[in-house]
Amino acid sequence: MTNLMCRLMREDYGNPSSLHHMGLAAERHVKQARRSLARAVGCRAEEIVFTSCGTESDNLAIRGIAEARRRAGRRLVTTAIEHPAVLETFAALENEGYETCIVGVDKEGFVDPDRLAEAVDEETTLISVMHVNNEVGSIQPLAAVAEKKKNALLHSDCVQSLGKLPIPTEVLDLASFSAHKIHGPKGMGALCKAGSLHIIPQQTGGGQEKGLRSGTENVPGIAGFGLAASMAAESMDERCTQIAAMRDYLRRGILDEIPDVRINTPDHDAVCCILNVSFLGTRGEVILHTLEQQGIYVSTGSACSSHAKTRGSHVLRAMGLSGEAIEGAIRFSLSAYNTKEDIEQTVDALKKAVHRFRHLGGFR
Ligand code: PLP
Repeated sequence: MTNLMCRLMREDYGNPSSLHHMGLAAERHVKQARRSLARAVGCRAEEIVFTSCGTESDNLAIRGIAEARRRAGRRLVTTAIEHPAVLETFAALENEGYETCIVGVDKEGFVDPDRLAEAVDEETTLISVMHVNNEVGSIQPLAAVAEKKKNALLHSDCVQSLGKLPIPTEVLDLASFSAHKIHGPKGMGALCKAGSLHIIPQQTGGGQEKGLRSGTENVPGIAGFGLAASMAAESMDERCTQIAAMRDYLRRGILDEIPDVRINTPDHDAVCCILNVSFLGTRGEVILHTLEQQGIYVSTGSACSSHAKTRGSHVLRAMGLSGEAIEGAIRFSLSAYNTKEDIEQTVDALKKAVHRFRHLGGFR
């Protein structure tokens, strides 16, 4: 991937909108990437709109539909465990006069389609439900949600599921993606929008991406995303089985070696690569910095929402966890590059860090 991206920066650096051969060569890379991503996602190449990140894709989907359908209704429904890219967009739209409804989740982090359906009325134009929650890994029942959507369109933030699960594009009207979750370049995203659906562009200008996202294309980023998507789709099943085995090994190690922990990731319908654990009587942030000194990188919530204004995870709060459990939560994110030795080293480091914190803090 880096070879391809470097070549597109150093040699084939044409602008895909240019008519000369350098431009046409760049356009071919964009087309190829569009086909690769569409194949990985399960949609048509024409339905892909490249953006600068998952956040932009969420904004384009939500604002694009809310504005296009404002005469049909002004009610928008989402869940309490969405990424800030969705929740903050809903909050901004509420300030602009839309009526928004945030539906809660159960204690395992799942939305109940019947409860969600109660919030959807004839005026509801958009429902936004993420596919996989980024903090605890719960997989949301999108097919059941789609059955109850009434006149509304269904958008899903699929940033965490790309390359880990088949994307249920057959039940979605819009789906958001981000390249860096599949080892692609940072600062690259895409929105998949069902064929004829009309959305209002949020960026106007030269009319690139069929007028839905003006601005000269990030050709190296797009090509890198396309290649990463192909690689992620190729070996998805074996890779995910391997990652899930490492996650289960980590979960077992923690439960066997460290007392007073709470596993926040559900033991069913969870993505292979996320494990969220509360080490009661500790502060997740302190554990994070202790592990970091040994080259083990974890997070307390999600890395990309750690600038959030409120303290503590809104996801764990929505699941009804105690303040102590929220304070001591750590999110482990695994990949196919993690080995058994990495897990053993992590459990060992955790055991020492947690023991030390509790000892100094006089836990219980
Ligand atoms: N949605 C989810 C579920 C995420 O986990 C993230 C980031 O990790 C985003 C959206 C934002 O994506 P990006 O960082 O590409 O803007």
